[in-house]
Amino acid sequence: MATADLESFRAEVREFLERNAPESLRGALGADMAYWGGRNPELPHPESKRFCELMAERGYTAPTWPKEYGGGGLDAAGGKVLEQELARLRLPPPLTGFGLQMIGPTLLQFGTEAQKREHIPKIVRGHIRWCQGYSEPNAGSDLASLQTAARIDGDELILNGQKIWTSYGDKSDWMFILVRTDSTVKKQQGITFVLMDMAQPGVEVRPIKLISGNSPFCETFFTDARARMENVIHGLNNGWTVAKALLGHERNMIGGVFGGSAPRGGQKSTTKNPIADLARKYVGERDGRLADASLRDRVAQVSMDQACFLLTMQRNADSMKAGHRPGPESSIFKIYGTELNQRREELLLSIRGPQCLGWEGEGFAPEELEQTRTWLRSRGNTIEGGTSEVQLNIIAKRVLDLPD
Ligand SMILES: Cc1cc2nc3c(=O)[nH]c(=O)nc-3n(C[C@H](O)[C@H](O)[C@H](O)COP(=O)(O)OP(=O)(O)OC[C@H]3O[C@@H](n4cnc5c(N)ncnc54)[C@H](O)[C@@H]3O)c2cc1C
Repeated sequence: MATADLESFRAEVREFLERNAPESLRGALGADMAYWGGRNPELPHPESKRFCELMAERGYTAPTWPKEYGGGGLDAAGGKVLEQELARLRLPPPLTGFGLQMIGPTLLQFGTEAQKREHIPKIVRGHIRWCQGYSEPNAGSDLASLQTAARIDGDELILNGQKIWTSYGDKSDWMFILVRTDSTVKKQQGITFVLMDMAQPGVEVRPIKLISGNSPFCETFFTDARARMENVIHGLNNGWTVAKALLGHERNMIGGVFGGSAPRGGQKSTTKNPIADLARKYVGERDGRLADASLRDRVAQVSMDQACFLLTMQRNADSMKAGHRPGPESSIFKIYGTELNQRREELLLSIRGPQCLGWEGEGFAPEELEQTRTWLRSRGNTIEGGTSEVQLNIIAKRVLDLPD
């Protein structure tokens, strides 16, 4: 978009949001307001669904995706203007999830015209919530060893086997899944990537309870479950290429979400440095500075690293909006972003000190109890989407071209 067009677009978006965005959602950016959509959506806020529908109507849930599939058709600069105008009112993103962040971009790259027309509009509108069926009990880092089998039966695939660590499997409507369709060839060559409706008798989802008390992921069992051949992406036995491309999107997302976000744990802050504010509140000040010198160092280091990483991720997001596809560099973002998040969670725990030893009951503020849980959740960051060791292997081989 030319500069003049951008300015008139900004005026249009500003007016639209001022007139239509729910009052009660303004200022909610940074609070835990993620809306994931789906057939039976959970509402983090009473207006979440309405806000999503309002934005989807104009393609603003996927601003840079093509208009013919329900996206906004904006270029990178237009997408950025929309982001800035949402941030101006401190509105949360209208929709999130694996549809928008993983399977949608993958379908835009590999889907047939019919597949895009069938699935992408439902992603953009938040009608279908997606989960990822990759890992198995004996296939995590070595994903290509997966054994969930699929055989062709007319115009369907019949699936038998098990997936594990399926995030939000119990809340999702459809799964993108990797299955073995040929076991006589090299393991990467016999894998198919297919989309499957979870609402059928052959699919059983069992939530796994974690140390944090939550059950964010599940075991998923398939007993003669059915997926339609028309939902095979990029052809039978060609799934490994699709799987790797999707992992690029996933690693970008994980790096960005965990490394780039403001401190979590329930605080909603509008100040420049919420970590420093929190430290002042818990540790106090001496001579106008944070009283604990070693904590001061850590706050400064994490704050600087976070600011730099945020800028890097913004640059990366801009190049994605301009059509760049994630390559092995997404492993760098993934490893740095998740390790940064773990450092930040450790720091937030140190700042709150013994107030983070509580699990429930009186004597602890809700955000202190929440902090303990987000710290525990952060332990998984360097495992999900491929462990840090696996990312280092990818960086060594595919970014630095080091010998085996
Ligand atoms: C919070 C969370 C959410 C997740 N969500 C999903 C999901 O929605 N869908 C899904 O399919 N999966 C999901 N996963 C699973 C995740 O992708 C796997 O846990 C991950 O790929 C590691 O596999 P694994 O657990 O089998 O560990 P393993 O592969 O058994 O690894 C064990 C250890 O060995 C190391 N290791 C293994 N191979 C190598 C090697 N070649 N070089 C060096 N070190 C190595 C690993 O780094 C690790 O430390 C999720 C995991 C977490 C923690």
